[in-house]
Amino acid sequence: MDKQDISLILQHLGEDREQYHGAIAPPIFQNSNFSFPTVARMREALQREMDTPFYSRGYNPTVAILREKLAALEKTEDALVLSSGSGAIATAVISQLSAGDHVVCVQKPYSWSHALITKLLARFGVTHSLVDARDYREVEEALKPETRLIFLESPNSLTFEMQDLGAIAVLARSRGIVTVCDNSYNAALHSQPAELGIDLVCHSASKYLGGHGDIVAGVICGSRERIRNIMANEFMTLGAVISPHDAWLMIRGLRTLELRLERSADTADKLMDFLHAHPKAGRIYHPFHSENPQLRLAERQMKRASGLFSFELKTDEVKAAERFADALQHFVLACSWGGFESIAFPMAVFADSASLSTELPFRLVRLYAGLETPELLIEDLDRAFQQL
Ligand SMILES: *Cc1c(COP(=O)(O)O)cnc(C)c1O
Repeated sequence: MDKQDISLILQHLGEDREQYHGAIAPPIFQNSNFSFPTVARMREALQREMDTPFYSRGYNPTVAILREKLAALEKTEDALVLSSGSGAIATAVISQLSAGDHVVCVQKPYSWSHALITKLLARFGVTHSLVDARDYREVEEALKPETRLIFLESPNSLTFEMQDLGAIAVLARSRGIVTVCDNSYNAALHSQPAELGIDLVCHSASKYLGGHGDIVAGVICGSRERIRNIMANEFMTLGAVISPHDAWLMIRGLRTLELRLERSADTADKLMDFLHAHPKAGRIYHPFHSENPQLRLAERQMKRASGLFSFELKTDEVKAAERFADALQHFVLACSWGGFESIAFPMAVFADSASLSTELPFRLVRLYAGLETPELLIEDLDRAFQQL
């Protein structure tokens, strides 16, 4: 099978239908445990616990289908599927570190990745530097003799800053440093960081990969050797595995990944055209926006953008930003993205809380374009602007 053909990966790779009565949709092996007729067979399976059904924290046949598809999408040799994106990122990062090591991390990673590196790892004697990694020389300057890992997220999911992954990978490899990249935004289709030399690629599969707002899941992709090491150690110990049922939902979600991502990105382009021309809309944050100073890098590193972007409302009042969001009828107010439903995530939500950060102005609104028609969504934004 040609592993490069996306449609073959999504519809057929990893599926051996003769094994299960020709069933088109694979069975959900909803088993914690697998049994053996003899001690000899059990011993044999135990010795291959990572590659054969024995106990589902390790190998599960439904999850195995998914692993093959995800590894092929990210152009890596193997993949692990976990019970959340945060679980995947924490497992990948912890697997590479020991007390006394130092991590270089992008300045604005996903909030719980930030908590992992700045709080949890700090308790175990791992130090870190947060750097503005848009310029890879900032990364180089932050490296210390004890730096073991560089954590990247390109682009991030709020203001969409990117890193030159190829340049950072070359730098890291020359110093024996491992690179980990959160690639959730690209949904494994628009950019393959492993091709640029990144060692471990992580995803929140709760977003586009699941795609229906009904699962929380995560992915780690990498070389056979790295993935095997993680599996036999941190993965089995931390045990943040996906349930077979959720794995099945993700397999089903993947069937339409290309179609959904394309539709979502097309709609986002139309929403941005509308916002660009609107007098009450300010700056737009989006990798391929004509005013993005990193546009060249986006064009070099990504096939296209996804359907997630942010923009600023032209207002000085928190209350006005709140009225705008409250007036939306088709965009739901929520925090996630990547599903069928369009979402508005207004930063005004932080205006009364301790987590209010000067980095997140209340006038910033993140929009996710779901599968509704663009006309419906534009009408919705138009109505909301009238309340501003
Ligand atoms: C949602 C998200 C995560 C966390 O994933 P969960 O599946 O919610 O644990 C990590 N990184 C990015 C960029 C995300 O959007």
